[in-house]
Amino acid sequence: MKADKFKCGCAVVGGGAAGMMAALTAAGHGVNVILIEHTKRLGSKLLQTGNGKCNFTNLDMGKEHFQNEDREFVGKVLESFQVSDTLEFFKEIGIYSRQRGGYVYPNSETAASLQDALRAEVERSGVIVYTECQVERIKRERGGFVLETNQGRINADTLILATGSKAAPKTGSDGSGYILAKSLSHSIIKPLPALVQLTSDNRQCKVMAGVRSTGRVTIYADGKKLAEDLGEIQYTEYGISGIPVFQVSRYAVKAKDRKKEVLAVVDMLPEFSEEELREDIRKRLEKEENKDIVSFFAGLLNKKLVQGVVKSVGADMNMTAGQAGEKKLYRLVREMKEYSFDITGSRSYEYAQVCQGGVKLSEVNPESMESRLCRGLYFAGELLDVDGKCGGYNLQWAWSSGYLAGKSAAEVCND
Ligand SMILES: Cc1cc2nc3c(=O)[nH]c(=O)nc-3n(C[C@H](O)[C@H](O)[C@H](O)COP(=O)(O)OP(=O)(O)OC[C@H]3O[C@@H](n4cnc5c(N)ncnc54)[C@H](O)[C@@H]3O)c2cc1C
Repeated sequence: MKADKFKCGCAVVGGGAAGMMAALTAAGHGVNVILIEHTKRLGSKLLQTGNGKCNFTNLDMGKEHFQNEDREFVGKVLESFQVSDTLEFFKEIGIYSRQRGGYVYPNSETAASLQDALRAEVERSGVIVYTECQVERIKRERGGFVLETNQGRINADTLILATGSKAAPKTGSDGSGYILAKSLSHSIIKPLPALVQLTSDNRQCKVMAGVRSTGRVTIYADGKKLAEDLGEIQYTEYGISGIPVFQVSRYAVKAKDRKKEVLAVVDMLPEFSEEELREDIRKRLEKEENKDIVSFFAGLLNKKLVQGVVKSVGADMNMTAGQAGEKKLYRLVREMKEYSFDITGSRSYEYAQVCQGGVKLSEVNPESMESRLCRGLYFAGELLDVDGKCGGYNLQWAWSSGYLAGKSAAEVCND
């Protein structure tokens, strides 16, 4: 359908999680809605979520699971559409849920089922969808908005921007929404990758690559502790990955962007204290003095990690425990408890699950998601300066902010 001179009550730009929720909510309040998506399909990113299973919310929800500065803002928005609302909404469109440790997935355990259900609901609700429609410019005209697109002009009384961030750009979130928001006078907090792997030039990365092992990772910037997390760390050729690394990555990335010296210190043996390990070494040394030092620790920690640690301290792999002696063995244990990776940065936006930064929250009203600078303009989803931890928090943010923006825009249209 050609969009030329089409007029609607509400135009939603961005057909991802937040945009679909906003469009459905506005349409549910009786408003004519146009949903504009510049890729071929709605909700492409959803397919990648939760390793293809879509962890779409979390039973342990709250502002404390978000890492951006203004968490009060997030808390207010989450209250307007809570986890129970999300579960009910999805059940009504045929998505039953299952949870593991509070992490909620569709019962089918396929992200495609949730994406399909949302798209079918968009179709059923009468929302007019333009795909492969690129919004090139937005102008204000007679209290409303004129969207100039590659498919013609669209006039709208209200406008919701839900264009996502720069994370996973192949799904369509290419950052163009920041330019649109800026053109409507909004400030953008510098977007940077978050929930992303960290890169390091530590030479032992290659030795340790391929190992997954429980550990605690702590981020320091210029010597100051910023964040820590515990879980399965993945050691890779380029650096470190895994959920705990994702959780702390935004702090490392931001500090690096501010030219700080960043260290990720990994406790490879979080269940043991250093004293306990020293005591064990004392007891075992006599009996096992002929074992080489790698074998001496191989029942405690993955061999590749032990090798990396041994190389880091410049010890000879073939040395026996007896030759090394207590002092050197203690030194190795300390390294295992406090192994330092110099962080050079992160992997690119292609690998990031979300972005930190985005539309400045102080310019948006958390009661309505309306811009404080431009009447009739609303924001939803990751385009805003909000980033949650791994665990369904970012999608809950998309549902809550999308719902609130759609409802508020509809109230203005119906006034
Ligand atoms: C690999 C991966 C795994 C993830 N796993 C989870 C998870 O399990 N749980 C969780 O909670 N979160 C997860 N996330 C994060 C979550 O998917 C996002 O936070 C959420 O999808 C953001 O929704 P959104 O609608 O704001 O943005 P998006 O989903 O990015 O949607 C934005 C849409 O706008 C369109 N668009 C952009 N610019 C324009 C324009 N100028 N004109 C028209 N259309 C435009 C894009 O094509 C896109 O379709 C994951 C992310 C990734 C990448």
